[in-house]
Amino acid sequence: HTFRYRPELLDGVAEHLTGELKEYEDWFMVDAAKLKAITDHFVKELEKGLSVEGGCIPMNITWVMKYPTGHEKGRILTVDMGGTNLRVCDVCLSAGKRDFEQIQRKYKLPDSVKTDTKEVLWEFIADRLASFLSDHHNGEEPSKPLPMSFTFSFPVDQRSVRSGILQRWTKNFNVPGVEGNDVVPQLEAALKRKNVPVKVVALLNDTVGTLVASHYRDPQVKLGSIFSTGCNAAYMENCRNIPKLRDAGLPEDATVIINTEYGAFDNERKVLPLTPFDHQIDKQSSRPGTQIYEKMVAGLYIGEMLRLMILTLHGKGVLFRGQDVTRLRVENSLEASFLSIAEMDISEGLQDMREEFEEKFGLQTTLDELKTCRYLIGLIATRAARLYACGIAAICKKTEMRQCHVGVDGAVFNKYSMFKGRVAQGLREIFDWQPGEMDLIALNAAEDGSGVGAALVASLCIDDEELGPC
Ligand code: BGC
Ligand code: MG
Repeated sequence: HTFRYRPELLDGVAEHLTGELKEYEDWFMVDAAKLKAITDHFVKELEKGLSVEGGCIPMNITWVMKYPTGHEKGRILTVDMGGTNLRVCDVCLSAGKRDFEQIQRKYKLPDSVKTDTKEVLWEFIADRLASFLSDHHNGEEPSKPLPMSFTFSFPVDQRSVRSGILQRWTKNFNVPGVEGNDVVPQLEAALKRKNVPVKVVALLNDTVGTLVASHYRDPQVKLGSIFSTGCNAAYMENCRNIPKLRDAGLPEDATVIINTEYGAFDNERKVLPLTPFDHQIDKQSSRPGTQIYEKMVAGLYIGEMLRLMILTLHGKGVLFRGQDVTRLRVENSLEASFLSIAEMDISEGLQDMREEFEEKFGLQTTLDELKTCRYLIGLIATRAARLYACGIAAICKKTEMRQCHVGVDGAVFNKYSMFKGRVAQGLREIFDWQPGEMDLIALNAAEDGSGVGAALVASLCIDDEELGPC
């Protein structure tokens, strides 16, 4: 066995460590042929999701039927409930300038709120909104409820832009009594209980806000994607290509943004190269059998993947022999940021990585052990990036888009500096772009989807009078 993934990273590492890595490498390396096979299956699954019968990928209709023109104007509150934070903004759109102003505040979303009762979840949001308003609106009682656009980063079935039934929780959220229900009245009931003078005028996915905001700045953007705690993408589709909208009575040339929810790709496990670690992550998740693709790719899971690998190697007596790994046994204790810190550490002695192990887990490490872990990280993160490329490629193939920009948001994409290049490399292999040829599909950091994107979505979907004056 000769190592295929950056063998120089293992220079000088003792045989008892490298020997164990061979199997991992075979599991995690996804070659060009496999990327192409996954992408082709992905295209079919995207199509199935648009059919009347449906498939694994929800392909949710968002009722956002056009892009902004730049003439949008008005003022609106936006709330983004993401996997990690709750963000509240007060956005002003000024017509003709493709510009906006905003005030924003971020609140940490405590882990407990993600699995508590629905009253706790919705009232958490209501309380933060109330405190935002008392800070930024001088606590004045408005004459009518303030309009708010709500970015809710989960799969919802929408009959209109003002409502949405939660299909299922993802990202290990598990709040009972929300799945199968419309989230808007649940949030509005909490706002009412807490006397917060706000009404929800639009409900959108984070990918939709990202697409709309990025397209507003750069009309070549045709895909909006999130690569963060979770992973997903949205794009504009011709309604005549959507059989499940057949009876909706839409004009022949209508278009609509589809929130693909492609994290659910291959829940049937037909093409993805699942390893024992993937099965384990799925099994211990709060919704086993769902989001199989997302669990191989997204930030919430790549840290967990490394943790499971290290524990396995520890169990075999290979890594951290004789040390107390109690802290590492805690589920989800190893975050994606750990991987990026480790990979970006270019010091001789891998000092940053060493400190992370010591501070977060109380582990003393040798240089060989650090190099071994860094190699594993490279395998996990490279696979994640290359599989992520398949989803982007599949949407482009499905829509016969040869060239476009993709607006990508999310901590993994923005902070993990190696990701972008690895995704680009995956795309080159899928499309057989020759070296030196320009990449036809370019991934760019997105505009603020849940602030300005959410404000634009509201202004596209509701009457101007419903927005406030700037
Ligand atoms: C959710 C999507 C969301 C993505 C990124 C996934 O788990 O199902 O709705 O867009 O995470 O936040
Ligand atoms: Mg988010």
